[in-house]
Amino acid sequence: MTHTSDTEWGFSTQAIHKSRSSIDQSRSVTMPIYQTSTYARSVDDNAPQYEYARGDSPNREALEDTLASLERGRYAVVFGSGMAACDAILRRLSPGEHIVAGHDLYGGVYRLFEQVYRPQGYHIDYCDFDGKWTSAIDPLTRLVWFETPSNPLLQVTDIEKVSQEAHSRGLSVVIDNTFASPYLQNPLTLGADLVVHSMTKYIAGHSDVIGGAVIGNDRGWQDHLRFLRNAAGPTLGPFDAWLILRGLKTLALRMEQHSQNAEDLAEFLGNHSRVQEVYYPWTQPVGRKQMRRGGGMISFVLKPGNISQVHGVMGKLHLFQLAESLGGVESLVSHPATMTHSAVPEAQRMRRGIVPGLIRLSVGIEDGKDLITDWDKALS
Ligand SMILES: *Cc1c(COP(=O)(O)O)cnc(C)c1O
Repeated sequence: MTHTSDTEWGFSTQAIHKSRSSIDQSRSVTMPIYQTSTYARSVDDNAPQYEYARGDSPNREALEDTLASLERGRYAVVFGSGMAACDAILRRLSPGEHIVAGHDLYGGVYRLFEQVYRPQGYHIDYCDFDGKWTSAIDPLTRLVWFETPSNPLLQVTDIEKVSQEAHSRGLSVVIDNTFASPYLQNPLTLGADLVVHSMTKYIAGHSDVIGGAVIGNDRGWQDHLRFLRNAAGPTLGPFDAWLILRGLKTLALRMEQHSQNAEDLAEFLGNHSRVQEVYYPWTQPVGRKQMRRGGGMISFVLKPGNISQVHGVMGKLHLFQLAESLGGVESLVSHPATMTHSAVPEAQRMRRGIVPGLIRLSVGIEDGKDLITDWDKALS
């Protein structure tokens, strides 16, 4: 079960070689798919053995070892979806306890907080992590939870600063690192306690599989997450683990191209007369401090930006497909006010800057000049 390891290796070497396993005798260069639900035991062997695949399985373990080293954590625990990973974290809390969460959150995480946990007696307050956020803390607060860059406004929060403020009050910090991926940002090295990923997005990278992960260093959290996965069963199948690991091997290459294309497109949009404002992490000083590059997500406000103008522009695009989700090789466009954030009351949306003219892009890894031409024609 031991996998190859060398902490001196660079990111892509680890992504490609860390999963080389000693358990397979065929010397296959990529790991086979162990499509089995159970394992025969050896009665006279005291070494750790595989038992039943809801608990441990070789493909999941290979993915976890790779992910842990790329996020600079001691362990990773993978789940059947990003939401299952978030839920597994929250189940360590008890009713009556309190979470301070970022305002700008993935819609599914907001729904989990509001429609699953709040009715059971958990308390959640939302804030922007500016100077005053610590006033939201009360004696029952356990977790601080945020995304950076955030969705859909791509606002960057200083992980190191907020982690210090949270730790001095005894709280654990959870960062949803889905938008940045482990290639662009490693929150554990900046003081976060847990990193959560929807591996569905950049980590798998090809819009063909759903999966989630939690990465950390603390043993108590690891025991909780592994116990819960086996006890409640939100498990990731061997083929899905294999697909995600295949995607992960090219994460560095993909993130470089996503970032290059997005940087060029953000510049083009920023200079266009029909664009009022562009949101991109790399234009924010904290983004430049804690990320390696700006990533593939851009949001911008069309001018003038009522719904029919937004629809007119989006109807002229050929390469950017109108769809939710993000992080795949293909470019996608979405309209937060009517799609991902339509459940947020209008007054609250407007206050937060999710105006009718706001357009969100997941910039793919096509040829960058073709993506700019697509927008040049759509905006003309
Ligand atoms: C997609 C997403 C999730 C949920 O992950 P699934 O794999 O779809 O369950 C959580 N957080 C963020 C930021 C996401 O983009």
